[in-house]
Amino acid sequence: MSPIVPPDPPSIREAAEHLCSGRLVAFPTETVYGLGADATDDAAVQSVYRAKGRPAHNPLIVHVADIKAAGRLVDLDERSLLLAKAFWPGPLTLVLPARSGNPVSRHATAGLATLAIRVPAHPVAQALLRQAGRPVVAPSANPSGRISPTTARHVAEDLGHAVAMVLDGGVCQVGLESTVIGLAEPGRATLLRPGGLPRQEIEAILGPLAAPGDDPDRPASPGMLASHYAPAAPVRLDASSVAPDEALLAFGPNVPPGARSTFNLSPTGNLAEAAANLFAMLRLADRSGAARIAVMPIEGQGLAEAIRDRLRRAAAPRH
Ligand code: AMP
Ligand code: MG
Repeated sequence: MSPIVPPDPPSIREAAEHLCSGRLVAFPTETVYGLGADATDDAAVQSVYRAKGRPAHNPLIVHVADIKAAGRLVDLDERSLLLAKAFWPGPLTLVLPARSGNPVSRHATAGLATLAIRVPAHPVAQALLRQAGRPVVAPSANPSGRISPTTARHVAEDLGHAVAMVLDGGVCQVGLESTVIGLAEPGRATLLRPGGLPRQEIEAILGPLAAPGDDPDRPASPGMLASHYAPAAPVRLDASSVAPDEALLAFGPNVPPGARSTFNLSPTGNLAEAAANLFAMLRLADRSGAARIAVMPIEGQGLAEAIRDRLRRAAAPRH
């Protein structure tokens, strides 16, 4: 039986009951679909790592319904309150000192003294978090290292066996994971992962962001593995021409001819549209039977930074 269900109030109640009983539920957020578990339940959190095949040293993002709930788990300083008020709910994760005595499982934070937290905007995610009444870990609902899911069907194909249900909220609007900002140390904030909230919007509030490598005393994000988002077919970046055995991931109006099949992320060169299409089109290109996936250059700022980041990882040598 398909675990996919429409997100009506009875299904959301049932999903919350599953979470509170230690089971996994996949749900939509505006970034990608999340594999949800009760963040305070050691066994449930461990089953998230197991279902994804995720390395235990890669901590999870904790999702809550609002700033008030976040303030119970982490120390929100002035900088984080500025960002939270500007961008929550939304595709922004803050890494902050965990409050002592907070109920989040140590498995979720991989034993760190910091905690990554986000308030998602998707109405189904909001309803589920409020109904569950507890923090929920929700990494992308895909096997570790593979392509993130942006539809309920993607989740059912990849992890249908591991979840009690998949709440179907349609296609994810942003289509890229959240932007992760490190604020655990005083001073300059660090861009730990580019994502669905463009760097420039954050810098307009906090000033220039540091890169993880800038300061040897600053920990990088433990989960930023070189190879990630990987299709089965090899990926070739910055393609200006294409071979007949290749699938082409195109961008913009000027598409080189001759590909076995072409998937255009945005024929008009719109970055938000390209971001929303990225993972679904990577999946389609991967299934097209092509020997390789060639990707046109995605230039520019804003969401282009996160799109390039995901494509670089998709093209990186596999472990
Ligand atoms: P995912 O759940 O796959 O979207 O990945 C979560 C991202 O947040 C990974 O890159 C993690 O390394 C990062 N992250 C989670 N918790 C922390 C933390 N306490 N410190 C730094 N990075 C974190
Ligand atoms: Mg992921």
